[in-house]
Amino acid sequence: MRIILLGPPGSGKGTQAEFIKKKLGISHISTGDMFRKAIEEGTELGRKAKEYLDSGQLVPDEITVGIVRERLNESDCERGFLLDGFPRTVTQAEALDEILKEKGVELDAVININVSREELIKRLTGRRICRNCGATYHIIFNPPAVENTCDKCGGELYQRKDDTEETIINRLEVYKKQTEPLIQYYENRGILKNIDGGQSIDEVTREIGISLGRDW
Ligand code: ADP
Ligand code: AMP
Repeated sequence: MRIILLGPPGSGKGTQAEFIKKKLGISHISTGDMFRKAIEEGTELGRKAKEYLDSGQLVPDEITVGIVRERLNESDCERGFLLDGFPRTVTQAEALDEILKEKGVELDAVININVSREELIKRLTGRRICRNCGATYHIIFNPPAVENTCDKCGGELYQRKDDTEETIINRLEVYKKQTEPLIQYYENRGILKNIDGGQSIDEVTREIGISLGRDW
């Protein structure tokens, strides 16, 4: 299957992607993770992307579309993929249409996860990530068994630099202006699935499953 996970920062896209990719055996493509990796490795892409991530602005479409195009051409994507955090602008959505057309494939579903602004701020300020394996936790809603330690690999947890209140407010505004129009874009295609993301992690997973015709 070829799926897009849509929704504001903090809506649970990454958390749900972990489960869905395993269940469906498809590749998880997170542009945010790709940029953070490039920044950590100090590559040219990382140098170009850093100021945008730090301030909560979007990396220019040209750069972002370029890395997604390359990634979708890798062989593992032939069995399907789950896009998380891409597209984020109408220009990116149109570019994705072109890429998929060239490949002769189509999207199966766009899952739009809805969460209130108040809840998003709580989720993002409490988010912690494993430095080693990238697993996502929340200090209250999804805490690790041992404080600051990843349940899966024992790695140390850290807080993303852009998960501060000031940058979060900025990211939510960017989402509203630049990404929210995609809801209508995919609604018009008839492939949008609206999910109530305000429920527990397990309930959201279940609702996504139902929207994809799976009882998992
Ligand atoms: P996104 O990838 O959309 O930015 P994440 O998956 O990283 O969002 O989730 C943001 C934060 O909210 C994380 O700390 C995560 O553990 C927590 N979280 C995710 N889904 C839920 C949920 N349904 N209820 C409560 N907290 C959640
Ligand atoms: P995320 O991990 O999805 O919250 O993304 C973190 C940051 O990476 C965003 O605030 C942007 O700066 C950048 N980013 C991720 N995906 C995109 C995208 N599709 N277009 C532009 N910038 C992006």
